[in-house]
Amino acid sequence: MRLVFLGPPGAGKGTQARELAREWGVPHLATGDMLREAAAAGSRFGIEATRYMDQGALVPDDVIVGLMHERLAQPDAAKGFIVDGFPRTIAQAEALAALLEDTGQALDRVIFFDVREGELLRRLTGRRVCRGCQAVYQLVLAPPMRPGVCDKCGGELYRREDDSETTVRSRLEVYARQTSPLLDYYRRRGLLATVAGEGPIDAIRQATRQAAGG
Ligand code: AMP
Repeated sequence: MRLVFLGPPGAGKGTQARELAREWGVPHLATGDMLREAAAAGSRFGIEATRYMDQGALVPDDVIVGLMHERLAQPDAAKGFIVDGFPRTIAQAEALAALLEDTGQALDRVIFFDVREGELLRRLTGRRVCRGCQAVYQLVLAPPMRPGVCDKCGGELYRREDDSETTVRSRLEVYARQTSPLLDYYRRRGLLATVAGEGPIDAIRQATRQAAGG
């Protein structure tokens, strides 16, 4: 099972990918999480990436493709994967196809999470993330049981630097300009499935299972 979860920031890709990857026993490969981990570890690479992330801009294609190349070469990715937050440009999509082709693989499906812009803004500005396990909460729609504390691992919840309203607006613009052309790109290749990304999380999860063909 080789899947890409595609959609604007706040569409729920990460929430669904994390749970379904666990359910299906495949790795969840999230470029945003990888970049934030590198930044938290204080590596030069991570600090460099933060300059783009904090502005809501995309990290350059060659950097991200290099990161993904390394990650896909690890043994756990051989049995399948869910990629979340990558590709975000046509150049990245072409690089991904080439990387997979080199090892005789191909994507099975690209699942697009469809959510209206007003809803995205509402979700992102109230989003909190666990420093420990990356679980995502939403202060209004899906709050933690204890304020500031992760229900799953007891970790500290924080607001991502790029979830401020101004940066969220830039990220949505970047998505519209650079990432949304991927919808046509994958539709033409017969890989695109769309899931309505609003409503109860469990219903969206069930629709995602169906869209993945399982
Ligand atoms: P995310 O966690 O997916 O919302 O990503 C957070 C930020 O990381 C983005 O706003 C970008 O700055 C950077 N990023 C993550 N994935 C990519 C990608 N595939 N290409 C370029 N930049 C990325």
